[in-house]
Amino acid sequence: LVARMRPFGETIFAEMSRLAAETGAINLGQGFPDTDGPRSLLEAAARHIREGVNQYPPGPGRPELRAAVAADRRRRYGVELDPDTEVYVTVGATAGIAAGVLGLVEPGDEVVLFEPMYDSYAAVVALAGGVRRPVTLRPAPADGGRFTFDPAELRAAVGPRTRMVVVNTPHNPTGTVFTRAELAEIAAVCQEHDLIALTDEVYEHLVFDGAEHVPLATLPGMAERTLSVSSVGKTFSVTAWKTGWVMGPEPLVRAARTVNQFLTFTANGALQLAVAEALEGEAAWVRAQRDALQRKRDRLCAGLSSAGLDVLRPQGTYFVLTDIRPLGFADGIELARSLPHRAGVAAVPAQVLYDNVEEGRHLVRFAFCKRDEVLDAAAERLVAAL
Ligand code: PMP
Ligand code: GLN
Repeated sequence: LVARMRPFGETIFAEMSRLAAETGAINLGQGFPDTDGPRSLLEAAARHIREGVNQYPPGPGRPELRAAVAADRRRRYGVELDPDTEVYVTVGATAGIAAGVLGLVEPGDEVVLFEPMYDSYAAVVALAGGVRRPVTLRPAPADGGRFTFDPAELRAAVGPRTRMVVVNTPHNPTGTVFTRAELAEIAAVCQEHDLIALTDEVYEHLVFDGAEHVPLATLPGMAERTLSVSSVGKTFSVTAWKTGWVMGPEPLVRAARTVNQFLTFTANGALQLAVAEALEGEAAWVRAQRDALQRKRDRLCAGLSSAGLDVLRPQGTYFVLTDIRPLGFADGIELARSLPHRAGVAAVPAQVLYDNVEEGRHLVRFAFCKRDEVLDAAAERLVAAL
């Protein structure tokens, strides 16, 4: 294995899902729903496969999906994109993020990231030969424990070699939905230092209590310097479909596109057609799913509190972070590795998503994208065992 990848072993999501399978634990670790997406979406994919959509789609993605993404972006956020040059389909957000970083970050360039950070960011920055500059999100006691950043720390992280800022909102694993004011801080720094922003918006639909997802690209001066990434897995509960897209000004999209031609070349065409139809046709399903997830969040938060964990209530995504210290635990990795045996529940230690591991040692993440009876059973087990 090349030196720059040696710090990266098996991902925590794979490790915890394996442990859950081995022990028969309820898996609230890796984030995937235990119910299917909208029927019409599944039927459409099957129909397109049956009807012969089984060869390579065009390199940039099926035109139907690129047009649907552009229309969706216009409808919901007022953003205008040319579907031919400013939208590009990838194998999930993961490939879009990788292609964007590899296409835009030179060896030695610095990349500012908010920690805890989704695990693929650190790895692709390392693959590009970039240097991570983490800015830590911390719970604000005055704001109900909502995670946010200190603008002074953001500014201190930026230097002459900084090339890019990665912004994930709604944020996995804290559940923070960045406000317009927070995004304006980031936008100001990007413009003062001529940085590119790469956004990960895969949870864009999963926001609760009336919170609003604001794409960074919609802030003044940001459209021309932002590569936005999203995907279908969370929106339609089809995490295996691995269908995503990057959006932005032609030069940034071209950078990602140039790289991705040689990473995955193209993505599954039949699924792209089905997703194109659902983006417009299944908006009501998405809203109902969001409302259901909000209730599930409340259900699991109540259960985790009953078990004695300190719950850091999320505004978006389908994850909740808990502080394990009230129960006398200190190390989330230790607890997460023993929890499947001890309680029959699997979770993810947030510590592995930090560069400054001390900041996240006491945090463990639980997923609530599960059927109510599964959430209830997990809570009962935790109450009994902890
Ligand atoms: N970004 C974040 C923040 C995620 O949580 C995930 C997990 N699914 C991804 C990207 C990957 O998305 P995809 O499955 O579309 O590659
Ligand atoms: N995004 C999901 C999570 O955070 C799944 C990630 C993965 O398995 N790579 O749990």
